[in-house]
Amino acid sequence: MLTKEILEKIEEANYIVFTAHKGPDGDACGSTLAMYYFFKQLNKKVDVVLPNPTPNYLRHIPGSDLVVDFETQQKKATECLEQADFIFCLDYNHPSRVGQMEEALLKATGTKMMIDHHLNPADFCDFVVSKPEISSTCQMVFDFLQAYDESKIYTPEIMKCIYTGILTDTGSFRFSSVDARTHEIAMKFKEHNFDHEIIHRQLFDDNKPNRMKLLGYCINQKMQLFLEKKIGFLSLTSEELKSFDCTKQDTEGFVNYLLSMQGIEVAVFFIEQANEIKMSLRAVGNWHVNEIVSEFYNGGGHQSAAGGHFVGEMEDLQKHFEANVFPKLETYHR
Ligand code: 5GP
Ligand code: MN
Repeated sequence: MLTKEILEKIEEANYIVFTAHKGPDGDACGSTLAMYYFFKQLNKKVDVVLPNPTPNYLRHIPGSDLVVDFETQQKKATECLEQADFIFCLDYNHPSRVGQMEEALLKATGTKMMIDHHLNPADFCDFVVSKPEISSTCQMVFDFLQAYDESKIYTPEIMKCIYTGILTDTGSFRFSSVDARTHEIAMKFKEHNFDHEIIHRQLFDDNKPNRMKLLGYCINQKMQLFLEKKIGFLSLTSEELKSFDCTKQDTEGFVNYLLSMQGIEVAVFFIEQANEIKMSLRAVGNWHVNEIVSEFYNGGGHQSAAGGHFVGEMEDLQKHFEANVFPKLETYHR
């Protein structure tokens, strides 16, 4: 993962920028900020540049207030990318995944290195480490930093960032992609006085009352089950979100409630945003839901967790899904 050539390029670099995908999640924020704190110790000038601000549920992650985001600080974010000698592309496999920031990223002349776990990496970086079998980019970042200098990993900030990404991308160590190494990293952190409980509480037990009400409404009023197909839908329109004084951020994790139900193996969550509908798919078992979104909905992702989008009305999308995906559902199960 860390060749002599990469090491030389990093050592030559004075200014390193860490980027991740739009709509950053725990793994995106955790991987970029862990790298930020690590290379800060090596006296590099460092910045984390993300397409959008860190979501509220991740506000406890160390350094979230240091992030330069392209959405609200476009000029500064563009300057960071222009000036960087080395740019890490973490937790994404394609330049389009940084949304509006794509042009500035592609124009940047610094050496680019991808560290990512999504399928089918695009060819836009000088160095690519792509391991779709690994459950989180944070786990790959741990391996990378360990090869670089393990003695600088075990700070409270870096452990918190890496653990956040591991926890959020593995459903708290439950998905099939968790391997011995995932637990070994947790073990090493515990050997360095790491407090795991507070992170679980900050991430999962910090709900606003309105979010809980929205979840109740969504399940009670908006759930559609197709039990003979083992598939379920949840959906929310912008108006419904607004009426609960919630934003898309507040719906993080809703899709998983469908999967917690008897007989459901594929969960689809549709959420209206600006002028399109964003969809999130999750599955248990041998489903390849990334193929559904790449075939029909301009999306992609992992075998069991993928996303895509559709321009049109909610009703039309659901009809489209039922008409086009349902008849060939079995082809995605193998
Ligand atoms: P989520 O449903 O949480 O937004 O995304 C689940 C997974 O699918 C993530 O790993 C994410 O990277 C991927 N994903 C989500 N939306 C898109 C999309 O529009 N295009 C692609 N290529 N991947 C997506
Ligand atoms: Mn990830």
